[in-house]
Amino acid sequence: MRILVTNDDGIYAPGIEVLAESMQGLGEVIVMAPSRNRSGASSALTLHRPLHVTELAPNRYSVEGGTPTDCVHLAITGFLPEPPDLVVSGINAGANLGDDVFYSGTVAAAIEARFMGLPGVAFSLVDEHKNYATAGVVARNIVKKMDPKKLPGDTILSVNVPDVTPEMLRGYEVTRLGKRHIAEPTMLQQDPRGNTVYWIGLPGEAADAGQGTDFYAVENHKVSVTPLRLDLTHYKTFEQVSNWVSEL
Ligand code: MN
Repeated sequence: MRILVTNDDGIYAPGIEVLAESMQGLGEVIVMAPSRNRSGASSALTLHRPLHVTELAPNRYSVEGGTPTDCVHLAITGFLPEPPDLVVSGINAGANLGDDVFYSGTVAAAIEARFMGLPGVAFSLVDEHKNYATAGVVARNIVKKMDPKKLPGDTILSVNVPDVTPEMLRGYEVTRLGKRHIAEPTMLQQDPRGNTVYWIGLPGEAADAGQGTDFYAVENHKVSVTPLRLDLTHYKTFEQVSNWVSEL
């Protein structure tokens, strides 16, 4: 088995090192990741300039200024002589819970794998993201146990790991996405030349975080495993929307 390891925090982030290490022995490990932090890139592709790839070491590649989606797309469609069998992404420095999955480059890398016909799993370490070793153990356990061929074609797994020591983990739980309150306000600052600059604010606090959600699992020191379906079509609203669209 060939395993492509990527992330959105960049090739020099601690999490990707731990993830690549945790995959050793499970297959041939190829690391291809953005040269710098591209968190929040979602599924962005670089379309208006070429992509430069630097080989940092054997099977370890940096895509200059690339996004996580660039990395997966490039690896599968032209860079690697043979496509991987599995794409793993992370270990992200921070949670990807609820609405976060829409912004996350970590999750987007797994989605891109799926668009390319390959199984993808995203790993994120919540809170202060100190216990990377815990997430490494979790990633290895999951990849060893899962049968990538049995993951339905429009499905990825998003795994969130509580930021605790391995001994403090209380097991694994399959969860649904919770929801956040709307984001904190944008922060205004003055630059040294008197221009107003803006920082996108923090994500909102958890709003729907009850039992069964990803928020609840990690809060209770459980590993949250959320299967995500890539078909976002809201079938239940067909009738209601058709009612007025048919009158146009
Ligand atoms: Mn990130």
